[in-house]
Amino acid sequence: MTRSMRDEWRGARRIVIKIGSALLADRETGSLKSDWLDALCDDVAALRADGRDIVVVSSGAIALGRRVLRLPSGPLKLEESQAAAAVGQIALSSAWREVFARRQVTAAQVLLTLGDTEERRRYLNARNTLAALMSLGVVAVVNENDTVATSEIRYGDNDRLAARVGSMISADCVVLLSDIDGLYTAPPAIDSAARRLDVVEDITPEIKAMAGDAGSELSRGGMVTKIAAAEIAVEAGAHLIIANGKISHPLRALSEDAPSTIFLASANPVVSRKRWIAGSLVPKGTVIIDDGARTALESGRSLLPAGVVQVEGSFDRGDAVSIAGRQGEEIGRGLIAYSIADAARLIGCKTAEIETILGYRGRSAMIHRDDMVLKRSM
Ligand code: GLU
Repeated sequence: MTRSMRDEWRGARRIVIKIGSALLADRETGSLKSDWLDALCDDVAALRADGRDIVVVSSGAIALGRRVLRLPSGPLKLEESQAAAAVGQIALSSAWREVFARRQVTAAQVLLTLGDTEERRRYLNARNTLAALMSLGVVAVVNENDTVATSEIRYGDNDRLAARVGSMISADCVVLLSDIDGLYTAPPAIDSAARRLDVVEDITPEIKAMAGDAGSELSRGGMVTKIAAAEIAVEAGAHLIIANGKISHPLRALSEDAPSTIFLASANPVVSRKRWIAGSLVPKGTVIIDDGARTALESGRSLLPAGVVQVEGSFDRGDAVSIAGRQGEEIGRGLIAYSIADAARLIGCKTAEIETILGYRGRSAMIHRDDMVLKRSM
């Protein structure tokens, strides 16, 4: 444990705590681990008493629900997992409500879908709700609304959801409590030389490679989504900690120097609106630009139609799109001022021609610099 880790954790005033399903639901029986939850809530109540704002992101709805419904083990059909989530979520919420109530803490349930964080208007709406709950001293317990989420339109993992919530509430720390105590240089189960990293200052390709393959059996307990979450969090100005949740009082343990990995927040987090753009999980399309436009963007200018060579995908005005170079490499993200149909007609044209081509006076920039985040700061 390094000094910096303790300082970052101890100094955090606004914290998101993500709890994995395996911590809340017994692997064998699928029942709720109430002793563990009790101990965790002691820790949360202590942090609250110390003046920290806490938002909990709790998994476990599907794990709890499938037990009640006696669904077979193994992958569930979409409608089965939706049904399991509906049954499990009510149990999960009531468990949180009760354990917090015993500590005189009011809990609230907030169920989010991908659209609630990806669409700007809905994002602001959710942000306001969470802000109101925090100012009322309530601990929000957030989960994905799995009863309506479909496989295409969902987070699917609460790691990235927690990071997105952290960004939404301007948290200074996101803690992922998991069944592993940090990021290892190699899978510890098969490589005895594997070493846990204390601090990650930069999420380099080497760091990403340590997570293994998303699809591989050896990927360490969803480390891929944890690193994706870390990327979102650090860019939003929050530290992200991966810590072992399998012990009793895991947050107290963190204050007492339990092993963990901390990804340090970027020193220059992007402002809130750009943070939302950079963290968008599903850009609706891609705008491919030429080298001249790339240089212009890098020197802080807007993207004009003249520099665009191709548009792909299916986007509407105001949607988040990826900006790529000629080789397809992502340069940044931005909110586009035109639908794909109009953008396609404007490819390569001069700003003065926009009105004649479209028949209306559109914006001169395809993506305005205020609506754009370049990769080096993403
Ligand atoms: N939202 C899912 C659930 O509550 C869990 C997703 C995850 O484990 O990351 O069951």
